[in-house]
Amino acid sequence: MATSNRGMNPLDTLRDRYEAVETECPACGYDDAEGTWVSQTDGAEVRYEHDCPSCGKVTAHTISFGR
Ligand SMILES: [Zn+2]
Repeated sequence: MATSNRGMNPLDTLRDRYEAVETECPACGYDDAEGTWVSQTDGAEVRYEHDCPSCGKVTAHTISFGR
């Protein structure tokens, strides 16, 4: 596992929140307890993706930072 950088970055805060959320697949119900959300941002929104190791479905959440 990579070393995580514990800053006060809002992205880190959001990612921690998402990692605490259940990563249960809505398609097959597989609960990927070890799963992590991959985040990408364009500066205005953060997109989180998690792909199910059981059926391969990608679950995505997009969060807008707002203004
Ligand atoms: Zn699945």
